[in-house]
Amino acid sequence: MTTNHVWDAAGVQQAVSQIASIRPAYADILGFYGPVFAAQVNAAVDTCPEAIRMDDSLLEMKLNEGFSLIDPSAFTVDNPSAGKLLEALCRIAAAAGEKLAGVGEALNRSIIGGALVDHLFADVLDDKGRIRDFAESTDVAPDLLSLLLYLAVKPSIEAGARQLATHLSGIQEKRDSCPICGSAPILGELDPEGKLWLHCRLCWHRWLVDRIACPFCKNRDAASLEYFYSDDEPEYRVNLCGKCKRYLKVVDTRRIDRSFYPPLEQVVSIHLDMMAVEKGYVHAMGPGSPAK
Ligand SMILES: [Zn+2]
Ligand SMILES: [Zn+2]
Repeated sequence: MTTNHVWDAAGVQQAVSQIASIRPAYADILGFYGPVFAAQVNAAVDTCPEAIRMDDSLLEMKLNEGFSLIDPSAFTVDNPSAGKLLEALCRIAAAAGEKLAGVGEALNRSIIGGALVDHLFADVLDDKGRIRDFAESTDVAPDLLSLLLYLAVKPSIEAGARQLATHLSGIQEKRDSCPICGSAPILGELDPEGKLWLHCRLCWHRWLVDRIACPFCKNRDAASLEYFYSDDEPEYRVNLCGKCKRYLKVVDTRRIDRSFYPPLEQVVSIHLDMMAVEKGYVHAMGPGSPAK
């Protein structure tokens, strides 16, 4: 019910090339993310973070009360695996334009110089300012630095989410935030049966929500629930709630003949985030996200 499909590099590469042929405007973005996704699914095979320990009574309380199971800081990172992946990501970044190359080089110098990047991996999850300090000391853009570090720890986070998902039951459905880690959803998915799932922006766990209500404010008044889509991209629609002014970008998997790899669909549909923001709506992740 709640587990996501496990991908291999060939499947991801096929999905990337299928989408590259129909979205030429995203050639540069796919030139970066295509190899990144492949490197991540390859790294995931050998990623084995320490099991997240949860006290049974705490787990029971959280399940009964409908709380998310953990804070993001409780995810564990397989540091050697994330380090190896980060090296691969730095090489990919080096070929992907000046700004990302600069960040990749700064990180690479630290790795080669033996500086610990483990504390930067931890900062992705607990946000204690170490990434910002490193960005200042190396004169690189903090958002790009955060992006590369997040991409490197993502296989660990996803492994933790898969571990914790085994504890979930139906009571965690219909939430406006991730039942595993409490983070906001980044993307919606309509499955072959027309059910609506949300995907977590951090751990990419997916959970079921009510299709006919706004997932954020539970508004069910059809007069204030709208959506827009383009005839050129019938597989995407953007749900708009006139009450809380939030939007949700949704991929209708019944309208695609390519494989559905959620992180890929997210990065090749940023134009829809921009359109929703222009119309005055805000993403669940907050103003400016992810339509940068
Ligand atoms: Zn999550
Ligand atoms: Zn709403």
